[in-house]
Amino acid sequence: MRMKSLLAVAPLALALVAQPVWAQEADNTVAARIQSAAERLVQDSNPARLEVLKAHLDAMGLAYELQTFEGGNRQTGPMAGTNIVITFGEGARDIVMTAHYDAAVLRDGAFSHGVVDNAGGTLAMIEAAKSLQAHSNHLNHRMIVVLTDQEELGLIGAGKWLEQADKTRIAGVVNVDVAAYGRTVMFGLNNGEASRGLVRTLRTYCADTATDCEAFPVYPPSEDRVFSRAGIPVLSLGIQNAVGARQMWLAFNGGQDNGLREGFVPDVFQNIHTHEDKMDKLKSDDVAAFAAFLTGLIQRIATDTADKNP
Ligand SMILES: [Zn+2]
Repeated sequence: MRMKSLLAVAPLALALVAQPVWAQEADNTVAARIQSAAERLVQDSNPARLEVLKAHLDAMGLAYELQTFEGGNRQTGPMAGTNIVITFGEGARDIVMTAHYDAAVLRDGAFSHGVVDNAGGTLAMIEAAKSLQAHSNHLNHRMIVVLTDQEELGLIGAGKWLEQADKTRIAGVVNVDVAAYGRTVMFGLNNGEASRGLVRTLRTYCADTATDCEAFPVYPPSEDRVFSRAGIPVLSLGIQNAVGARQMWLAFNGGQDNGLREGFVPDVFQNIHTHEDKMDKLKSDDVAAFAAFLTGLIQRIATDTADKNP
């Protein structure tokens, strides 16, 4: 009986499996590129990470400029930093994509491998940029990808970029932080009234692509805050496995009765900014899938904000 019914469903199963193989092969190239770049990003300083990214962008044929700035904070003292800026496409307004590439110095003075936070997000953004550049004539916007430095010192890189940018041109910003594994896309609802349109676009895109997206009334801060403080529409995204995303939701939004056991810390917060944020956490096929999601999302944002172009 079981054998017979198994055989009966086999052709259907095969048909379902056969379809995505082609797409998966294309994805595997992206996943392999993400995997090897992430390995190379494990360095002992942020200037060393910068050099790895420059070589990675050169190899991918993505032109960039460097924005150097005087940053640092009270702990570090004055410290030079470098943002990587990739610009393509044309339009009266800009869509800005941000991800920080710097890794944190740990409490014991060691340098984090910075895989989850935020090599994964950085590499997803670069893949999305590469895909979008091929369609830039349909985007009707100037696209600016800012891979920022010194996020970990207080959102400095994004602030320095915004200081010199023409804010009136910015139609929207998409920031990615903490993106190394899982297929659940997490996003914050706490970037103010100005970001409501972007949130609507994101929710629609999640539904249309049957992506599991989790809205956080309170989402932990990243460089999105630099933009929302300036009244600029911004989305902050990350990925997690489904359980991890819900645990994070409860930890940040569940209050006293969140049901998590006393002292529970969601998995991702046990890893980032510790010695555990290392290569074994990376699932490059998940990051590749997220890069494809970002590409489609940004195309949708370009369409939705095009109506508002002057
Ligand atoms: Zn981060």
